[in-house]
Amino acid sequence: MKTINHWINGQFRDIPPERVGPVYNPATGEQTAQVAMAGPREVDEAVSVAHKAFQDWRNFSLTRRQNIMFAYRELITRHRHDLARALTAEHGKTIDDALGEVQRGLEVVEFACNIAHLLKGAFSEQVSRSVDTYTVRQPLGVAVGITPFNFPAMVPMWMFPIALACGNTFVLKPSEKDPTPAGMNAELLAEAGLPDGVFNVVHGDKEAVDALIGHPDVAAISFVGSTPIARYIFEQGSRNGKRVQALGGAKNHMVVLPDADMDLAADAAVSAGYGSAGERCMAISVVVTVGDAADRLLPRMRERLTDLVVGPGDSEGAQMGPLITAEHRDRVVGYIDAGEQEGARLLDDGRGFVREGHENGYFVGPTLFDQVTPDMSIYRDEIFGPVLSVVRTETYEEAIELVNTNPYGNGTAVFTNDGGAARKFQAEIEVGMVGVNVPIPVPLAFYSFGGWKNSIFGDHSIYGPDGVHFYTRPKVIISRWPDPIHRGVDLGFPQNI
Ligand code: NAD
Repeated sequence: MKTINHWINGQFRDIPPERVGPVYNPATGEQTAQVAMAGPREVDEAVSVAHKAFQDWRNFSLTRRQNIMFAYRELITRHRHDLARALTAEHGKTIDDALGEVQRGLEVVEFACNIAHLLKGAFSEQVSRSVDTYTVRQPLGVAVGITPFNFPAMVPMWMFPIALACGNTFVLKPSEKDPTPAGMNAELLAEAGLPDGVFNVVHGDKEAVDALIGHPDVAAISFVGSTPIARYIFEQGSRNGKRVQALGGAKNHMVVLPDADMDLAADAAVSAGYGSAGERCMAISVVVTVGDAADRLLPRMRERLTDLVVGPGDSEGAQMGPLITAEHRDRVVGYIDAGEQEGARLLDDGRGFVREGHENGYFVGPTLFDQVTPDMSIYRDEIFGPVLSVVRTETYEEAIELVNTNPYGNGTAVFTNDGGAARKFQAEIEVGMVGVNVPIPVPLAFYSFGGWKNSIFGDHSIYGPDGVHFYTRPKVIISRWPDPIHRGVDLGFPQNI
């Protein structure tokens, strides 16, 4: 059995791990590898190496750091198909979807290629006689990334390119469910010229995470995952004096007004609801229809569902793959059972979906509920599967109120042809990322990504300008140079005259 080991100080650790966890191919249900599970010893080794490497790396010129990012960008482009295949083999998403994930990560690398410009400070000459003042942004030290299973390449790439380009060193703790892309990225960074110890990977679970968030030499923690763990990381990390950004789960609503282009809305709802089998933090999981919109939208959605091809991510024509684990599949099926029992109308039932030749794969077919109400568990909880709920409202105000009272606030969308209605939505909706006739409004790399409410803990969104701010701290300098005038001792408060 292949063992996926930690990457520390520029190489895969060659000591056999004391503890391992299984890695599966979700399309077949077979175990394909075992992954090392770090404890405090391995975490301390990685953090110490990164802490030592920081002293040198922070003094690399901006140009050299940028050049490494440019070289890394080229290597990712060249190896994107390898990354996509590895990703599909452990996550299950389709190859096309995996390639899209790599591309969205690559955009952050491209943003980091511009770090010399992004780190420019401000300068004011002659604020007082012979006195100038200026600002610089300096790296923090060892930054840690703790990432979820659903984007094993992209989410880490939201973090480390900017952290590294800013002059920090990095320890990544990827999801133990699909660990291979992290090691591949480590190898590509090394090939791009990144010095040993600047980027490290430790695999594992809560034990590794707790050792990381408690380690005295860790300066900052970026977390992306579910809301309960995000809250825990934020609270523990902050208590330990770390800078923390922790992005959590979601329940994204798509509001469809009666004047919307119903074909556009149906395409969007099906794509955003079932893409990646619903395992996206920006997936649409609730469609909120206003007035009679549902009667025209639902037949169009169901028509599209009949054509949807579900199968192994690397099979010809597959549009939707399996779920990540058998436990997760059972959990999703449990929600479909509960929705039915709680009185929602089950229009399309994905339970019992079997793909010939892949009977042990973790598949659930696309599932659609109508007449869902806010008290039902399929509405309240993040299901993270191919289950879409339609909630019908009488008025637009009611729809907005529903979105605003939901405890999550990651992404949302409105579908309408009325500019005034769209403008009202963007002004009043209490959600961090908003789409107007766009179902998955993931910001480009030169903006920042972050939800509101229970979808984020901490003051910084991730990547983009917020990423640069998160991974650096500002310093203001006031200098008198040269100053030929000696005024003697003066205990009065300095005035800018
Ligand atoms: P998860 O919270 O179970 O795991 C995330 C990370 O935390 C993993 O590295 C895992 O090993 C670690 N972890 C798990 N349990 C832990 C514990 N008890 N203590 C310490 N660490 C622990 O999330 P997941 O199932 O891997 O990913 C899916 C979730 O991530 C969904 O809720 C999804 O919405 C969310 N997500 C959010 C965003 C966003 O940008 N807001 C993006 C992607 C995914």
